[in-house]
Amino acid sequence: MTLAQPRRRIPDPRDRNARLAWLDGWWDRSTVHLARVAVVGVGALGNEILKNLALLDFRQVTIIDRDTVERSNLSRSVLFRPRHEGQPKVTAAADTLADLNPALRVDALHADVVHETGLGHLRGQDVILAGLDSRRVRWWLNRTARALGVPWVEGATQGPHGHAMAFLPGAGPCYECTFTDQDWRALDDVASCRQLALDAAVRGRVATSPTAASIVAAAQVHLAMDLLHGRPVVGGRSLLVNLEAPDLMVSGRPENPACEAHTRFEPVLDTALSARTATVGDLLAAAAPTVGEPATVELRWDSVWEFDCAGCGRTSPVRRARGLVPHSTATCPDCGAERRPVFRHRLGAEDAGLSLAAVGIPPLDVVEVRGPAGSAWLELAGDRAEAVPTGTDRDSHP
Ligand SMILES: [Zn+2]
Ligand SMILES: [Zn+2]
Repeated sequence: MTLAQPRRRIPDPRDRNARLAWLDGWWDRSTVHLARVAVVGVGALGNEILKNLALLDFRQVTIIDRDTVERSNLSRSVLFRPRHEGQPKVTAAADTLADLNPALRVDALHADVVHETGLGHLRGQDVILAGLDSRRVRWWLNRTARALGVPWVEGATQGPHGHAMAFLPGAGPCYECTFTDQDWRALDDVASCRQLALDAAVRGRVATSPTAASIVAAAQVHLAMDLLHGRPVVGGRSLLVNLEAPDLMVSGRPENPACEAHTRFEPVLDTALSARTATVGDLLAAAAPTVGEPATVELRWDSVWEFDCAGCGRTSPVRRARGLVPHSTATCPDCGAERRPVFRHRLGAEDAGLSLAAVGIPPLDVVEVRGPAGSAWLELAGDRAEAVPTGTDRDSHP
């Protein structure tokens, strides 16, 4: 694409975007101001992505990250300051972003994106930008974004190397299409081999340089700008960055027609239910006209329903996603034996009295209910008022 030559005109000194507006056709004021964007992961990449969104005068961003700022983050995270040490990364980022661009509304979620974040926070976004350091979460986000019909932009760095690419919903290759046996094994290493979650200290960390993070995040935001402005974007085409050589390359990937990640959540029903107050029975009743009866609630994860202790014979309810239950908690507090976790991923009429919160369903989630007539996905939109912090109306900022 060619940019129009800047015309000679006198910028309005009161308009912070006067020079952006010169980028005719690349930066459109109302497109950027109305865009709904989510950034998943606020590490080195997420910091750079958010910095760019703030400079480009985005007005609404949802940010999701479960970690807190450590001293070692300060060397490659443009939004973190020494005073932020120990704070949630999302809180620290929101603090600096308020300085960088006071008009940017930040919905900050300090939560594990896979297990603690309602999918309603991702549904309805115009684009999701990933600043992730976990292959498994990328794999999850790819399936989820595709199912929700939202494009997402992947980015990754390793030392002086990195890549950025966009994936479109409904068409073309996805992140999973080209998975090799080795890729699947890499996911399995994280999940299936261990029944419960790794404790935080054991989780893998990838060395990131601030230079690679900066260029990859810039490419991601550029792709997001193209998607938002309706410029053509080829799904799955990656920009490969090698700062060591240095070298830039573009590489495509084929679509795999047998890929299991191409299913769509259809239909999604908006309900007035809230995860805090509704029960499994309420959810089943709301879905019954669409899916028929008897129906079941399909959890998005294996839930550790309870721990059974062979040592002392006690059964203790847990009802949390496997990924949120550290392996260390399997030890019985009463007798010290290693307890056996009992997993469930499906709830039925016998669970009707349990509240959705009690079974680990997060606010504003989109929950599958399956019945004889098929599946429906119910958004717990009753949580929207509480789950999304209310701020100034986006449309009131011209
Ligand atoms: Zn695919
Ligand atoms: Zn015991």
